Amino acid sequence: MTRITVAKGDGIGPEIMDATLAIIKAAGAKIEIDEVDVGEKVYLAGNSSGIAKESWDIIRRNKIFLKAPITTPQGGGYKSLNVTTRKFLGLYANIRPCISLHPFVKTKHPIMDVVIVRENEEDLYAGIEHQQTDEVVQCLKLISRPGCEKIVRYAFEYAKQYGRKKVTCFTKDNIMKQTDGLFHQVFDEIAREYPEIENEHWIIDIGAAKMADTPEAFDVIVMPNLYGDVLSDVAAQIAGSVGLAGSANIGEQCAMFEAIHGSAPRRAGQNMANPSGLLQGAIMMLNHIGQTDVAEKVQNAWLKTIEEGIHTYDIYKEETSTKKVGTKEFADAVIANLGKKPTQLKAVTYAKNATLNLKKYNRKAPAKKELVGVDLFVHWSGTSPDDLAKIIQPMQLADVTLSMITNRGIKVWPEGFEETFCTDHWRCRFKPKDRLLTKNDIIQLLQRATDANIDIIKTENLYHFDGKAAYSLGQGQ
Ligand code: NAD
Repeated sequence: MTRITVAKGDGIGPEIMDATLAIIKAAGAKIEIDEVDVGEKVYLAGNSSGIAKESWDIIRRNKIFLKAPITTPQGGGYKSLNVTTRKFLGLYANIRPCISLHPFVKTKHPIMDVVIVRENEEDLYAGIEHQQTDEVVQCLKLISRPGCEKIVRYAFEYAKQYGRKKVTCFTKDNIMKQTDGLFHQVFDEIAREYPEIENEHWIIDIGAAKMADTPEAFDVIVMPNLYGDVLSDVAAQIAGSVGLAGSANIGEQCAMFEAIHGSAPRRAGQNMANPSGLLQGAIMMLNHIGQTDVAEKVQNAWLKTIEEGIHTYDIYKEETSTKKVGTKEFADAVIANLGKKPTQLKAVTYAKNATLNLKKYNRKAPAKKELVGVDLFVHWSGTSPDDLAKIIQPMQLADVTLSMITNRGIKVWPEGFEETFCTDHWRCRFKPKDRLLTKNDIIQLLQRATDANIDIIKTENLYHFDGKAAYSLGQGQ
């Protein structure tokens, strides 16, 4: 018996949750339920996070959370409960299977069966943003080795458990050599631990185009947070079944399962909504807690029901449907099909009582780290890089000199192009001759800049890790 937390949410949430729970209980799910309130009424009662402290205690104790969609009230000040839950509970993996149900649900891609595995905590979503000059704002893209290892391992373990043949990685490491480069490198390292599973890497732009055009070329696709956010919606949409897709958010200790759609307030309370998205979330939950036999039974009964043409209004079509039903009747039809398998759609088989074997991250021995230079970022509203060099050069130390100026990453000094457009945000790179840099050198540079009224907005240290340069060159350098 597994104790889980359930939130019925808002709008159509309570109806689809009741239908989902009725189906999985009828299939023999061994679960005990603690219910918590989340969403609109909690927000409107003055709690800006949409969840009370006592509910957190229950969610953290039970560790498994099945959540119906909630309504985030309009207007400022309300924090997204999904983002908060993900971050607080360390739910690093977002898993979204996108499967075509052709010919029963309309799609341009009849044989699509793709699982998007999205990193869920890092990347540009750390939300660390600053305005630095009149003209330039920045967002920090943070990618960590533990973050990469955990998500890539999850993708391969998932592929192994579900008998999938290939894991593809999407990054843009031809441009972002450090951040996406690390993700790709870790992908290659972990892939070697799974020789039985094919692996490949695509640059995200052409990979995304290929996925939108020929999704049958892909199986499991793992990617950093931002790309995963965008492409998981694209994948769900082209599978033809946004309303039928579920999603899992997995952490080392806790996990949350849900539908990908929202609370559809206009459909609330009318016994109309399709419970399939949440049911797919619940099936992922049953697999996650090792009740794979129940998950398999429910998934096959659901496929059978879809195939019989018993459809809620959102997917009902005269050509492919036989009966238009409400939420409750759809659940009853799935329950009546428990124990049956689909004949046209592909029946599923899940490994018995399996859970994924996810190794804990082991911190590596520290590398040899050497400070080899510093980038000073300057707010300066002139336009000529040569003029800026003349302002900056007097602050050089005897053997720590200005080696390059870039503007938005493009080298503009020495020997820039006058065509290059420049903003008021300049990076001035200082490097020592024949020695390492010290923190004291940086302090001296900053002191001289301050004395000369030069507006330094930030510094970035340049390091070698184990003798390898670990910073980007200027474009054109
Ligand atoms: P929505 O997904 O709720 O609805 C979009 C459209 O899809 C609607 O026309 C609706 O009729 C239809 N639809 C959605 N789910 C359906 C189902 N199960 N069966 C039948 N039809 C369905 O998106 P929205 O209208 O943009 O958002 C409504 C509310 O949901 C907002 O407050 C939003 O913030 C919230 N939301 C919550 C979550 C979540 O809790 N995970 C996710 C997305 C949106």
